[in-house]
Amino acid sequence: MSTTGFNSQNGAGGGQTYANGPSQNPVALQQPPGVGYMVHPAPYNPMQAKAPMPPGPGLYHPGPYQPVPPANSYQPVPPVSSYQAPPGQNLLTRPPMGGPPPHTPPQSASPSPGPRMPPAQATPPPPAVSSNSYYPNPQQQPAAPAWQYGTVPPPMGAPAPMSAPPRGPMANHVNPAPSSPAPPQSSAAFSSVPPGPVSHNATQPLVPGMPPTSLHGYTQPGTAPPPMNPMAPNTYQPGRAPYGPPPTGLPPTGPPPTMKPTPPPTGPPMGNATPPPPKADGPVAGNGPQAPNSYNHVDNKMAGPPQPGPPGRHLGHYPSLPPGYQNTSAPPSAGAPPMHPAMQTATQPYTQAPQPYQQPPGGPGPAQLSPSLAALSLQSSTPEALRVVNLLQERNLLPAGPIPAPTPCLPQDLQKINCNPEVFRCTLTSIPQTQSLLNKAKLPLGLLLHPFKDLSQLPVVTSSTIVRCRSCRTYINPFVSFLDQRRWKCNLCYRVNDVPEEFMYNPVSRSYGEPHKRPEVQNATIEFIAPSEYMLRPPQPAVYLFVLDVSHNAVETGYLNVVCQSLLDNINALPGDSRTKVGFITFDSTIHFYNLQEGLSQPQMLIVSDIEDIFLPTPDSLLVNLNECKELVQDLLKSLPHLFEKTMETQSALGPALQAAFKLLSPTGGRMSVFQTQLPNLGVGALKSREDPNQRASAKDIQHLSPATDFYKKLALDCSGQQVAVDLFLLSAQYCDLASLGCISRYSAGSVYYYPSYHQQHSPSQVERFQKDLKRYLTRKIGFEAVMRIRCTKGLSIHTFHGNFFVRSTDLLSLPNVNPDAGFAVQMSIEENLLDMQVVSFQAALLYTSSKGERRIRVHTMCLPVVNSLSDIFAGADVQAVTGLLASMAVDRSVSASLSDARDAMTNAAIDSLASYRQAVLTIQQPGLLAPACLRLFPLYILALLKQIAFRTGTSTRLDDRVFAMCQLKYQPLAYVMLMIHPALYRVDDLTDEGALNISERTIPQPRIQQLSVEKLCREGAFLMDAGMVMYLWIGRNCNPNFLTQVLGVPNYTAVPQNLYVLPELDTAESQRTRAFVGWLRDQRPFYPTLHVIRDESQLKSNFVQNMIEDRTESALSYYEFLLHLQQQVSK
Ligand SMILES: [Zn+2]
Repeated sequence: MSTTGFNSQNGAGGGQTYANGPSQNPVALQQPPGVGYMVHPAPYNPMQAKAPMPPGPGLYHPGPYQPVPPANSYQPVPPVSSYQAPPGQNLLTRPPMGGPPPHTPPQSASPSPGPRMPPAQATPPPPAVSSNSYYPNPQQQPAAPAWQYGTVPPPMGAPAPMSAPPRGPMANHVNPAPSSPAPPQSSAAFSSVPPGPVSHNATQPLVPGMPPTSLHGYTQPGTAPPPMNPMAPNTYQPGRAPYGPPPTGLPPTGPPPTMKPTPPPTGPPMGNATPPPPKADGPVAGNGPQAPNSYNHVDNKMAGPPQPGPPGRHLGHYPSLPPGYQNTSAPPSAGAPPMHPAMQTATQPYTQAPQPYQQPPGGPGPAQLSPSLAALSLQSSTPEALRVVNLLQERNLLPAGPIPAPTPCLPQDLQKINCNPEVFRCTLTSIPQTQSLLNKAKLPLGLLLHPFKDLSQLPVVTSSTIVRCRSCRTYINPFVSFLDQRRWKCNLCYRVNDVPEEFMYNPVSRSYGEPHKRPEVQNATIEFIAPSEYMLRPPQPAVYLFVLDVSHNAVETGYLNVVCQSLLDNINALPGDSRTKVGFITFDSTIHFYNLQEGLSQPQMLIVSDIEDIFLPTPDSLLVNLNECKELVQDLLKSLPHLFEKTMETQSALGPALQAAFKLLSPTGGRMSVFQTQLPNLGVGALKSREDPNQRASAKDIQHLSPATDFYKKLALDCSGQQVAVDLFLLSAQYCDLASLGCISRYSAGSVYYYPSYHQQHSPSQVERFQKDLKRYLTRKIGFEAVMRIRCTKGLSIHTFHGNFFVRSTDLLSLPNVNPDAGFAVQMSIEENLLDMQVVSFQAALLYTSSKGERRIRVHTMCLPVVNSLSDIFAGADVQAVTGLLASMAVDRSVSASLSDARDAMTNAAIDSLASYRQAVLTIQQPGLLAPACLRLFPLYILALLKQIAFRTGTSTRLDDRVFAMCQLKYQPLAYVMLMIHPALYRVDDLTDEGALNISERTIPQPRIQQLSVEKLCREGAFLMDAGMVMYLWIGRNCNPNFLTQVLGVPNYTAVPQNLYVLPELDTAESQRTRAFVGWLRDQRPFYPTLHVIRDESQLKSNFVQNMIEDRTESALSYYEFLLHLQQQVSK
């Protein structure tokens, strides 16, 4: 698996009938031939060659990012009625629909009396350092509430019916009172919207023939769904004032009454104690009717060939020197070639041998594990994981290659079939027996998931009977136990269930009477094609609606050409089938629809200028069957970029356009792709700039991280209720208030793409990235009308989710769309002591409709041991998973409390855990800052988080950049999050084939990862920094001439062009090696990182230097200073 990256998609092998999309990696590095150097001018920015700290605010180049002028300072906009169709528009006709709109000034220009949406919790004053902890504190039990942003409500009696429209305080960061019943839908949270019907005289009939009750997704059978009301007439108040904050910037006066703090994790049990709503994701399989099985693809192997173990460590030592210490250069990596960090989630523990899992009847399960687990306590004190490391002395802690996920301390036979950590991973691979033990460890307990990840091997099962626990509805999995051939015991609730007759037959071995050899019991990740019980309406078709900004600003960026061309190029690769539908909406100060009905000779543009009361002009012909109307669609895509070429319209009515798009998609559900290039300033959802660039660096704390209006969140929840997800592409040189706009994607399970300073001529590297990202976006797998439920063994409880979704009930996430690049995280607590358990299990089940209209269920199950000693807990800590979860928690804390509060909490996470380790685990006290080897990188990662764009202070960070980084930390799978936090630095001027990988006849050099310090740079070298979304290739002033000529094709250092962003294709071994390495790095992620070749004079050098995490900056400690600070606190 390690070498496949994103090159192969699920089920691509073996010719099975896998339903979704194309299977190539669309973002593979394919440098256009003949591109060569693309250079554009940039200001000269001399910087010190070896400056140990990045420049301060004074040197920061704000680039083209300028404060947005007040909305009312825009150039006078010609009335829409005088809109002159540019040449080419005669292709389209403009029917006399809608008169000219009232020329309303942007609503947000006037102060709004409406209350701002408060943060989920009242912000406590930043407590003293020691009390600002992430974990429950015996003295401060209610410390948790500050983390409640995104918290799932504690038990509320019966879970809300799944069909309830997701409005009101069920929102992600709202916590209903624990003991009160679910509040009514007309909740106080949105009580600022006056009740009462709003006239929608322009309401259009919806698509006929679609039963209204089918529109609410997978309703619990037997429950009458609420009547369809896709337009939510109470929700929109055309003409009302937006929910902007008062101009004084006063903080919110407090949460509405429905918002109560969530009790500390020691509260009453939830989740498993209450049976989840039955049939939420399908029926219980009993002794169902016997029916033949068909196996599209069954493969016992979920992982690739055995991977080499972690590369050898290189012990360096701090000289007994203060900061400014020197490094001993680490010896070259010995042994096996390292894997890239993006792959470091280590397939190592998953070195499945091809032999089938030999589970005896009555095989391993909680009841039968005693013999093999008896030896566990001896193994669990793994010497290496617990080896004491004095961080102040050991300098070179970074391994040469990736850090593998720790292997849970399970018996071999269980571990062999455990879930791949790239898909499912826990912060603690040994689960504490009690909450108090967990509290003592001071480490967060949570799961990180990448549930829809592209997999090279995925067993797919078609069966009329999906075997599940009758009590808790867990899917049968490798960690259940068979009491005999006819009975199996659930590993989550321990109920004994019957084995259905059908399950007695094993289609793999074609034998009868071996239920424990069925693929469901042999694979921790498996996909079922669901029978009809899992459908409450016919699976929806793939529906794609594109909503495009065509204002003057948008046209000026030139993005429309790229979108239209990319759609033309990939129109046959859109995932779907004969039912696939597409539609287009464009907008500036008005909304433009496109009639693409079959039979028309050309597309027809319909302009609706009444943005106060949006209606659909011809609802039946705006979303059309792609196959039947492909020519019209192609005609439209060819003409769209020219239609608005000469527009002078500067206003942006994004909110009304979104409302229109929602109306259009409501009857079916689907995906809405929104392209926006400026701050929306007209109609509902209008925003105004909240950023003062002059305050960026000096501000004590960061304001405006939460949305300015609840419009986008409310609309997102309406979308979620109608199975519509909204993906936002933000291309702008100016502040766009991503904190507000991003809500539209966050709560509808969409994604956010951000291209700051996008311009077709001025930022060619952004254009390239946009093109590659679009191709991936348009062609990757997609799941529609999805829900995901995460279950865990009785006693454990999930209480907070991170990612983009809406929480429908305590453990059910609503995902109108699910894509293979989305990550999720959850926090957990231990509600009941796990005293008699040796292992616990976690199961994530994702029910979705494939683009081919199949209802499918992907199930991942992970098994972990339970331990009762602190040292065992520490030994099993997964430092990357811990860091990733803390990052998500810190984002919530930044929004609900403050950035400084979040920063303190992260620092304290390191202090508290190391203090606990020192006091409770170490038997012999020694001087220094001591950490177990498995956590030796924890302080470094915490420091890296403090310097990450999302959380840094003291440097000029644009608000949208910061908010986008926060979105990424919560939404990206762990492997990419780790690259954002701690980039990988390689020396690349001396690449060799030694230890290289060989993939598809390409030789991929594997240079070792260097520490992030300018001390590691040398003027004679060239260094590549991989920061996930961006790569920097820094060229030293005295760089090896061979590298300059053979790789960059320039005679000397001064000839290296400014703003070079592609490596020339030279016919030299050095060029091929370098390009192969960069291409290989890019191939391993689903987005396209830009590459910037920089030298000391480059404008971007400050970004490069800011990633030198171990160095001191004006406003942040060096790594060594940070360690000294930690030591001081730990020793207190
Ligand atoms: Zn069960």
